[in-house]
Amino acid sequence: MPKQKTLYICQQCGYETPQWVGQCPDCKSWNSLEETVVTTQKSAISSSRNVATAKTVKLSEVQPSSFSRLSSGIGEFDRVLGGGFVPGQVIIIAGEPGVGKSTILTQISRQLSDKKILYVCGEESVSQIKLRAQRMGYEADNLLMFAETDVFAVTQAMQDNAGLDLVIIDSIQTLTTSELNSAAGSIGQVRGCTQLVTNAAKRLGIPVILVGHITKQGAVAGPKVLEHIVDTVLYLEGDSQHLFRVLRTSKNRFGPVSEVGMFEMEEGGLREVVNPSELFLENRQQTSGSCITVVMEGYRPILFEIQALTTPTAFGYPRRTASGFSVNRLQVLIAILEKRCGLNLSNQDVYVSIAGGFKVAEYAADLAVCCAIASSLKDKPIDPKTVVYGECGLSGEVRRVPHEERRAQEAKKLGFTGVVSASRIKSVSKALAQVL
Ligand SMILES: [Zn+2]
Repeated sequence: MPKQKTLYICQQCGYETPQWVGQCPDCKSWNSLEETVVTTQKSAISSSRNVATAKTVKLSEVQPSSFSRLSSGIGEFDRVLGGGFVPGQVIIIAGEPGVGKSTILTQISRQLSDKKILYVCGEESVSQIKLRAQRMGYEADNLLMFAETDVFAVTQAMQDNAGLDLVIIDSIQTLTTSELNSAAGSIGQVRGCTQLVTNAAKRLGIPVILVGHITKQGAVAGPKVLEHIVDTVLYLEGDSQHLFRVLRTSKNRFGPVSEVGMFEMEEGGLREVVNPSELFLENRQQTSGSCITVVMEGYRPILFEIQALTTPTAFGYPRRTASGFSVNRLQVLIAILEKRCGLNLSNQDVYVSIAGGFKVAEYAADLAVCCAIASSLKDKPIDPKTVVYGECGLSGEVRRVPHEERRAQEAKKLGFTGVVSASRIKSVSKALAQVL
């Protein structure tokens, strides 16, 4: 006889408690606990300890398993996956609504036209998907559409359709299981359904892509609770102001993490950006306040233009504004420039922006930000064939950053002749003297 019990589950982190509380004790978010009725069946295995135990094996005797990977047909997507789909791999692709998750999945389906793909659509209607496919000029002969939200029907369909090469579920939040009484999209449902789909994927050896929506707070409905169930977590990022999209891995059991894929949004879908540096250096003006830096995105060096503008402060308090760069870091760098390099910025508003709308978080951009600010303040342009990178320390020193050689090579490949970095220059003031 199945037993019913009531649990309160945090919708942000998955914390469970038998009693309602206003604030989640785990993740400290308010009013995030939701009542969930869980049907529990006493497991037959849990009480017995007579399970067959696995044998220990020497690591040196383990044969490295080689997976036959299924290429997605999109180079940038394969790069992020580490070469393609692995049988039984469960991937969650998360992103804000409208960022292009469904578009990229339709494109993968188009690329895999000789493969059999099950497309579970709980989010959109079949005719909506048909319209998008038509817009992209895609016949969709290989797509088996399945408009269903019950997870058991989905796993049954995975089993019944022999010879499936890929399963796409759009989205995991729409799936429900009758075993849980909570609403679709709640953490209990999402977690339960992900577990059931994962079990089916492993058993049948079919790769599965789950679409996950990001909530208003910026989290996939329970990324933390799903992360340990699935094999790979991908985030598709981008904003409505700019046309490019970045696909990042935050977990990958079958490939490298921190790898990124770049795409550009076009009318017919997302286009791969094979050489992002060229894209970000387009429309460059040879004025003061512009400095080129090299930032590592995953294992790929990318050149960015850092722009700075200094103007005399009109009000008493100088403004520091940054887009695509941390304002806190900018304030630290301004302090270094004032104290260690003798620049007077206390009566100047400073604006810093990364051209192209990209976000740069790496400290390697520090020195270039300093050079751009100094260049704008002195109204002297920096040599357009010079790249600058290095981390700035509080005592005004320039620190080495990882992959200096690869950064220099990428710059050279794009025709830059001068490199200002920690291996050549030791202090910020010397770097400024060199570029200006
Ligand atoms: Zn919580």
